[in-house]
Amino acid sequence: MSDASFDFDVIVIGAGYGGFDAAKHAAEHGLKVAIIESRDMGGTCVNRGCVPSKALLAASGRVRELADADHLKGFGIHSAPVRFERQKIADHANQLVASIRTNLTKSLQRAGVTIIRGTGRLEGTQKVGVREINGVDRVLSARDVIIATGSDPFVPPGIEIDGRSVFTSDEAVNLEWLPRWIAIIGSGYIGLEFADVYTALGCEVTMIEALDRVMPTFDPDIAKLAARKLIDGRDIDARSGVLAQSIKPGAPVQIELVDMQTREPVETLEVDAVLVATGRVPSSKNLNLEALGIETNRGFLPIDDSMHVLVDGQPIPHLWAVGDVTGKLMLAHTAAAQGTVAVDNILGHHRQIDYRSIPAATFTHPEISSVGLSEADAKQLATDQGFELGAVRSYFKANSKALAELESDGLMKLLFNKTSGEVLGAHIYGLHAADLIQEVANAVARRQSVRELATEVHTHPTLSEVVEVAYKQAAHALAA
Ligand SMILES: Cc1cc2nc3c(=O)[nH]c(=O)nc-3n(C[C@H](O)[C@H](O)[C@H](O)COP(=O)(O)OP(=O)(O)OC[C@H]3O[C@@H](n4cnc5c(N)ncnc54)[C@H](O)[C@@H]3O)c2cc1C
Repeated sequence: MSDASFDFDVIVIGAGYGGFDAAKHAAEHGLKVAIIESRDMGGTCVNRGCVPSKALLAASGRVRELADADHLKGFGIHSAPVRFERQKIADHANQLVASIRTNLTKSLQRAGVTIIRGTGRLEGTQKVGVREINGVDRVLSARDVIIATGSDPFVPPGIEIDGRSVFTSDEAVNLEWLPRWIAIIGSGYIGLEFADVYTALGCEVTMIEALDRVMPTFDPDIAKLAARKLIDGRDIDARSGVLAQSIKPGAPVQIELVDMQTREPVETLEVDAVLVATGRVPSSKNLNLEALGIETNRGFLPIDDSMHVLVDGQPIPHLWAVGDVTGKLMLAHTAAAQGTVAVDNILGHHRQIDYRSIPAATFTHPEISSVGLSEADAKQLATDQGFELGAVRSYFKANSKALAELESDGLMKLLFNKTSGEVLGAHIYGLHAADLIQEVANAVARRQSVRELATEVHTHPTLSEVVEVAYKQAAHALAA
């Protein structure tokens, strides 16, 4: 399978989740593979994203649970005041990062992937330049090149970052200190997860959202219910429709808030720290994309569903891009899935990705998850294709397991085609919502109908019965 006229069959630029899965999959299929990484093996997810943030959420979630005297009283449990050590919680996250990074590096080595530590760039068709950490610069050839350079935090103009009093998630995952009062700019999933961590550990939070409602990227009904517990029920002062026009680091940090519409000054806040969680930008600046005439969309690489990079809408032969740098559903499992799709196509097995069936989760306590279409997009599809949209709600308060856990705050909304029964999307807020969504994601992937899904038997008593109830209600509502 290997082609000796090139240095490598495949060169992958970037060893995040996307690059890692692509390189491993290619090597396991007999290809000669190199992966170039300029920073830490494992990329954002392992070092500055999913892994450390979930470790912090696991520890702080336990602190919250043990400190919730009212909840424990419901079980007849009385606990002593909770004590925790910030440094030990941070150590837990750091150790997990180190061990996952080591395992991932070893598994690439075992698969026979050549790891090159340096910065990669395009040098023309089937050519990659690399400036290695030791300063050596060389050009390598490859039959196929996969760009998997990921993303970095976006910091809006007017905000100064010092990494100590004003920082992004890159620094927040280290939990170096616990500010008494912290402002979180942005109420997307990263802002919400850190608000969960900080409030559990006793910090006061002000959440600032420029759009006109908090949690603007979530289903409006789910957001309304979730915000009652995750924001209003905690030590969080949430403001929407206001823009943090300037933020100056220091003690205190000064935040100038203006009205989003009129840009009139609203207030100047003085807080101990600020976490800027305003989205992410693609890392594509230094790739020398001009060498192949590639035009980006605000830095995101245009691709088709087979992962070919496009120029003027046409695929460039032997050049692929996967992960956050493509701007599609910027999640670790999307990057990994795109990586294997790219390699399958390189191997000659034509395959396309199905974004609709990729789930997303926010690991707050309780969690929020979704898959498929938003209600607005499903309505549009129904109008375009001339079918009636069905929507049913299944509540955690009717679920025995949720009631036994005294965690019955939750809702699942299921969207489906009322004629064919096809599942179009689901949005869940409630205990273990991140696990529950997988079942619906599988149904979306197979374009299954609620008619057959409603007959599938679910274990009793489990939270999965929330999904079963939704399927049954939907099947009942189908056009005869
Ligand atoms: C706080 C936080 C929490 C998150 N939680 C979750 C979660 O729970 N679940 C989930 O699915 N996703 C989560 N994500 C998103 C997830 O981390 C990203 O979607 C994922 O890391 C994208 O993978 P990637 O391979 O595209 O890019 P990255 O992980 O960003 O990796 C790209 C790599 O390329 C390297 N690189 C860049 N340019 C070059 C170059 N020119 N040469 C060589 N190397 C280069 C970078 O150093 C980096 O290591 C989270 C993100 C954050 C910030």
